[in-house]
Amino acid sequence: MMKRILVTGGAGFIGSHLCERLLNDGNDVICLDNFFTGNKRNIVHLLDNKYFELVRHDITDPYKAEVDEIYNLACPASPIHYQYNAIKTVKTSVMGAINMLGLAKRLKAKILQASTSEVYGDPAVHPQVESYWGNVNCIGPRSCYDEGKRVAETLFVNYHLQNNVKIKIIRIFNTYGPRMHPNDGRVVSNFIVQALKNNDITVYGDGSQTRSFQYVSDLINGMTKMMETPDNFFGPINIGNPGEFTIKQLAEKIIEMTGSKSKIIYQPLPGDDPVRRKPDISLAKEKLNWQPQINLEQGLAKTIAYFDELLKNEK
Ligand code: NAD
Ligand code: UDP
Repeated sequence: MMKRILVTGGAGFIGSHLCERLLNDGNDVICLDNFFTGNKRNIVHLLDNKYFELVRHDITDPYKAEVDEIYNLACPASPIHYQYNAIKTVKTSVMGAINMLGLAKRLKAKILQASTSEVYGDPAVHPQVESYWGNVNCIGPRSCYDEGKRVAETLFVNYHLQNNVKIKIIRIFNTYGPRMHPNDGRVVSNFIVQALKNNDITVYGDGSQTRSFQYVSDLINGMTKMMETPDNFFGPINIGNPGEFTIKQLAEKIIEMTGSKSKIIYQPLPGDDPVRRKPDISLAKEKLNWQPQINLEQGLAKTIAYFDELLKNEK
């Protein structure tokens, strides 16, 4: 049955893939975005679809529309963008959640929150399980994002407990793929763009910190499966790829795969940079019958091809 679905942050990297998937599944999609980090280029190919509607709106202001489901993705996700206006980042997470939860409450709609592995901060438990409370510096350079997302989870759970709103919370681990912003400073896009331009690859710190990288199509599968779970299961649930790599390994792999002449250079590590990160995905396997299908090499190949094309068109 065709559902009416609202995607906030729909013109961003992940949001654009989600809109595409929901349309392909036969739904009516409203994509809401203030274009802070999103771009029309990400969704321009959807504009001809009669079941796709683009709305320029900021979720810190209330929004009204009649929908069956809401995916709440609006929030800058890369450190340089979320730190650009830290107060606004908190407002987007907190006021945005309140506005969207209020809408869900009135409509009796189901609402999914795009939370993050950043709720675990610099984790003392490895790999990270959903029951771990995290280790976050509430006044550090990442706090506007981390604490904003933590309060959003608090709001979601309490709208559920107090008002019976049907909620879903997914904790997304580092995700990459086509349509990442080429200048948003995230590690995969930075390294690929640097490698394709034969520029120095900027490893922060000694490159021994780890991350676990998930290809975007795996995330979209997990996210849509979570939305379909019974109402009495709301998470939070980790969605990520447990393959763990050091940042130096990532740099070397990208140099090798692009055949680049780039050299690795070492720059200072930003404050509060988590030392390691890897999801425990037992819960997702059990509840969603989900696990990632695309390994790092396969995902990087697709992402390199995307940036290669993008840079050629820029010339
Ligand atoms: P993105 O920056 O590409 O997308 C975010 C979108 O939200 C952009 O289109 C932006 O313009 C929009 N937006 C920001 N503030 C807004 C506001 N106040 N009102 C309306 N729209 C607003 O980032 P992304 O990687 O696609 O991330 C999407 C979501 O997933 C975010 O909530 C992010 O926190 C979460 N997430 C992403 C990752 C990842 O690795 N990419 C990891 C964990 C969580
Ligand atoms: N990083 C790096 N060089 C870059 C960009 C990032 O070494 O040009 C490192 C960063 O310090 C962090 C990791 O790569 O340890 C992942 O950074 P990203 O900003 O992509 O995501 P997050 O830290 O939020 O997981």
